[in-house]
Amino acid sequence: MTVDFEQRDEFLKMSLFEPSICFQCGTCTATCPWSELLETPMAVRKMIHQAQLGVMPKELLWFCTTCKMCEERCPREVGIVKSLLAMRKIAFKKREIPTEFERMLWNVLEQGNPFGDSQSMRENWARNLDVKDAKKGVDVLLYVGCSVSYDPRLQKIARSLSTILDSSDISFGILGRNEICCGDSVRSTGENAFLETLIEENVRNFKSTGAKKIITISPHCFDMFIDLYKNYGLETEVVHYTQLISELLSNNSIMMPNKLNKVVTYHDPCYLGRYHGIYDEPRNILEGIKGLDFVEMKDSKENSLCCGGGGGRMWLETEPDHRFSDIRVKQSSEVGAEIMLTACPYCIQNFEDSSKVTGTNMEVKDLSEIVAQAIGCSVE
Ligand code: SF4
Ligand code: SF4
Repeated sequence: MTVDFEQRDEFLKMSLFEPSICFQCGTCTATCPWSELLETPMAVRKMIHQAQLGVMPKELLWFCTTCKMCEERCPREVGIVKSLLAMRKIAFKKREIPTEFERMLWNVLEQGNPFGDSQSMRENWARNLDVKDAKKGVDVLLYVGCSVSYDPRLQKIARSLSTILDSSDISFGILGRNEICCGDSVRSTGENAFLETLIEENVRNFKSTGAKKIITISPHCFDMFIDLYKNYGLETEVVHYTQLISELLSNNSIMMPNKLNKVVTYHDPCYLGRYHGIYDEPRNILEGIKGLDFVEMKDSKENSLCCGGGGGRMWLETEPDHRFSDIRVKQSSEVGAEIMLTACPYCIQNFEDSSKVTGTNMEVKDLSEIVAQAIGCSVE
């Protein structure tokens, strides 16, 4: 193998020298869930090792869902995801990215969302609700995110959360048609210059509302704001809605009088669990709902198997026998759950598809939807 010194130096700089502490044990390769599904295994250790010599991986690089399972087990705490994203940045510079990403990037540039839907439709989910315009000034800003704003199924999550906040007397606002993508999908492509512009525009937008707290629905937006936005001047407190609801319940600011006699399980989204250690809050919420029988599914908490949607995989084709979400839905069914709960829009989309494909017909819900039900709010 010929060493490409220039590319090697670029990779080491972009990965912040994370791989330099790797001692080649191979735990990451053995841990990566793709190794069981792909004919050519996702050789994570080898990919990192070769990148240190300036040789970049090609197709396999785009399979990574950035689930962080490998990092969870790495004995040296190597920033494996950051290293893989550094490889994607180099691939982007050489314009060697999947074509599906090109369309998605144009959509974010032109309409502020990856789907290319009109910016003016972004607030349609709130049409019959009395939600404040954050541009007029608010203490609490609800950042809705792209999938939840545009997907008719996922819009129900925003409406559920909105009614929960109303019942707790939290006065909040949304940016509506002025809200734009958080940039999570852009980050996955390895694009950096446009990502920076996007972040700067969002930070300006958020600051203009005067909000002291930002609530996010998607764990991916949450991670972007916590992980990246701080470097661009965002000082506002950012919480995921599961943290907020858990807090509201513990100080009796919301009541859940309705009894729901159902067996439920909970899937830990990677970007809430492994990324931010939010494992207890969702479970505390479920514990507070009368009548619920909560069962842990296989591979919960730190061992949660990714739904397959992270790392930009939502925009790429996944072969029918390569779907982690199929495995996850079956695991829910195996523990006798009637409802599979989670707290991430990507997970909901993938699990609902898998529920039909696998024939389990598992009901899939977001935590906010079951909380709204327990409170007694009717949400359409
Ligand atoms: S698990 Fe960590 S130390 Fe082991 S090969 Fe992978 S990156 Fe290197
Ligand atoms: S982040 Fe997940 S998908 Fe990516 S290499 Fe690590 S274990 Fe595999």
